[in-house]
Amino acid sequence: MAQEDVFKKLVAHCKEYGFVFQSSELYDGLGAVYDYGQNGVELKNNLKKYWWDSMVLLNDNVVGLDSAIFMHPTVWKASGHVDAFNDPLIDNKDSKKRYRADVLIEDLMAKYDGKADKEVEKAKKKFGEKFDEALFRETNPRVQANIKKKEEVHQRFVKALNDNDLAELKQIIIDYDIACSISGTKNWTDVRQFNLMFGTEMGSTADGATKIFLRPETAQGIFVNFLNVQKTGRMKIPFGIAQIGKAFRNEIVARQFIFRMREFEQMEMQFFVPPGEELEWFEKWKDIRMKWHKSLGMGDKKYRFHDHDKLAHYANAATDIEFEMPFGFKEVEGIHSRTDFDLSQHQEYSGKRISYYDPEKQESYVPYVVETSIGVDRMFLSIMAGAYCEEEVEGKDGKSEKRVVMKLPPVLAPVKLAVLPLVKKDGLPDLANSIVDDLKFHFNCQYDEKDSIGKRYRRQDAIGTPFCITVDHQSLDDQTVTIRYRDTMKQERIKIDALKELITKNVGMIDILKSLQS
Ligand code: ATP
Repeated sequence: MAQEDVFKKLVAHCKEYGFVFQSSELYDGLGAVYDYGQNGVELKNNLKKYWWDSMVLLNDNVVGLDSAIFMHPTVWKASGHVDAFNDPLIDNKDSKKRYRADVLIEDLMAKYDGKADKEVEKAKKKFGEKFDEALFRETNPRVQANIKKKEEVHQRFVKALNDNDLAELKQIIIDYDIACSISGTKNWTDVRQFNLMFGTEMGSTADGATKIFLRPETAQGIFVNFLNVQKTGRMKIPFGIAQIGKAFRNEIVARQFIFRMREFEQMEMQFFVPPGEELEWFEKWKDIRMKWHKSLGMGDKKYRFHDHDKLAHYANAATDIEFEMPFGFKEVEGIHSRTDFDLSQHQEYSGKRISYYDPEKQESYVPYVVETSIGVDRMFLSIMAGAYCEEEVEGKDGKSEKRVVMKLPPVLAPVKLAVLPLVKKDGLPDLANSIVDDLKFHFNCQYDEKDSIGKRYRRQDAIGTPFCITVDHQSLDDQTVTIRYRDTMKQERIKIDALKELITKNVGMIDILKSLQS
């Protein structure tokens, strides 16, 4: 199936099974704003808990924070967001459609990469086991031509970004014949900068109101609380502050479902270190974060690092963790070495000293910062995309039928156990309900008595429930049930007494958290 079709199906699946709805759908929706439904919110909460526990529980030098969305307006002046939180935009004059100039050029580079990969795939099929991919990439003229074109674009692109040269960005778009996907024309406006912050007013009278912003990142709430947390928690450097919360960006191009939203959620951790040690910590956090992603079992090949083409003026190292979405490898998390920029700026703008006395070094300094910043919604999308699976299975009367199954990691699955009485009589619902009543304190259980068992299994597969149990007449006699495993569809009989231990071990976070430390 083409990847575009997979993506369309995934979006439809998210709606049909109560994971994600368009915001204000009743009023035809609001662009790039989404609501999470009954299953989506459970999955999202599990994701957040896994991140939180891996940061705050596993590291005794990382503590949490929950700072407000509204902040003093000078915060955003100090952080540079008022003057420089921009994206370069360009409009097509015929379709009136707006694009991000940098994204148009990045898509072009991905196209050249894609063409080279296609040649490699074709050759792989043709030559079978004898195929030497590295040699082929180095010597095949078609592959080389595409690599060369990409490299040409890449060099011009990086230089234009570093020089903040908007005319050159437009020139690249023209020189490489990039056309609007709607009108098909190359009739472009100039490239302009567009500030992404949402503004609003605080105060009751127009005269006395203050213009404030909805935070575009959670990080600044951490920086302005650095001294509060360090002093009250008696924290010693190196230490980190973790926070989960909403952020808002007036994105120019809102596409690709929950990948790019105007209201979204971030999980950020700022790690404060002595000056000079930041690059060592940057490497450590890169490893830790990549291990966290891979622990979820979506397949190691689906992740890669992508170093930034353009470093922000305050950063001395930056990389993204990308996941292979149905629309290509895309950023899910950023890891940045932000130097002492933020704390120094807040020191200057507030006029208050922000420094740390290091008892070991016996000196005071403004700490350096390594940040890990991940979008909850993008992470959610990556997990849903990785888990979505269509399979041919044996159905009724031995006929083959399709099942859609979300192979979600059990720790993240919204419902852990479905309890299904075989029939709605003979005391089976009572026994089934008593099992739910017993187990609901340990994990999320769902009772379902409607439709045939086959249909009920399919419904649970579609939301990724790792375990279903069927309560039948034998259950009344010997206190056993049939347990069915989602991925293998294998069934076996198990004592009701044994359910709690088996399921808790699989859906609880203890084992996966331990695996991060090994
Ligand atoms: P992009 O280049 O895709 O705009 P970014 O580099 O601006 O992203 P950061 O500022 O590093 O993103 O934000 C950290 C993380 O927050 C990103 O890795 C992403 O997961 C998430 N994020 C950023 N913008 C959005 C958005 N509009 N919608 C959803 N998640 C977002």
